[in-house]
Amino acid sequence: MYNLHTHSFYCGHGSGTIAEYAKEAERLGFSVLGFSEHCPFSDNFLSSSRMPYSDMVHYERDVRSLDCPFPVILGYEVDYFKSRHGYYEEIRERADYLIGGTHYIFRPDGTMISVFDRNLPSSDLKLYADSTIAAMASGLFSFYAHPDVFLSSRVFGQEEKAVSMAILDAAMDLRIPLELNGNGYLRHRGYPSVEFWTLAAERGIPAIVSSDAHRVEDLGAPFEYLKSMASEINLNLLEPAGTKPLEFRMVQVR
Ligand SMILES: [Zn+2]
Ligand SMILES: [Zn+2]
Repeated sequence: MYNLHTHSFYCGHGSGTIAEYAKEAERLGFSVLGFSEHCPFSDNFLSSSRMPYSDMVHYERDVRSLDCPFPVILGYEVDYFKSRHGYYEEIRERADYLIGGTHYIFRPDGTMISVFDRNLPSSDLKLYADSTIAAMASGLFSFYAHPDVFLSSRVFGQEEKAVSMAILDAAMDLRIPLELNGNGYLRHRGYPSVEFWTLAAERGIPAIVSSDAHRVEDLGAPFEYLKSMASEINLNLLEPAGTKPLEFRMVQVR
């Protein structure tokens, strides 16, 4: 078992210290633990969902000072904006990895929309797909978190299938792994979507499993479900093959 998508009290909407997560990972027998706090910005953009910029140094120091019997790696979960590409590159230089994730979309009039827990109109779905694919194409990310979050409160029809296929095709072309997200399952948010991941499995696209834990007790909680879901739909999984650099190998689940 491993987890590369871990939050903590630092994000402002989670709990538990870095050391408490590490202790829980040790108790669970993890082979690798990666921390991935939401990446803050110096102008405190999107500050309601992430740590203050001034806390970055403390977060990084806490992760780097852990002494564990398994590799612990430092990362960030990033909302990609092209104008901030240079900043993300700087962070990637000193961190071990970055995870991409689309949490917001911006309409042409500048309105910012959270993609969680809402039924997006068709025009927003297209924005979701375009911004997710642009982020995946940035070359910054070791994998892409909850690519199926746009399905969180939708019935899976033709439109949803088309968006899913566009994202899956792009992930395949760009060779970027996608994440089967356990927090959506634990919070009953409507993802991971069986329909989305069945399409992935049919195309031979494997998945990273993550708990996306925001509480210490959630660190290992969703893996049994995620693995049984993968096994039922013949979805192959990935696991870390090395941490510096972070690389993956395929494990057959069936
Ligand atoms: Zn996320
Ligand atoms: Zn997350």
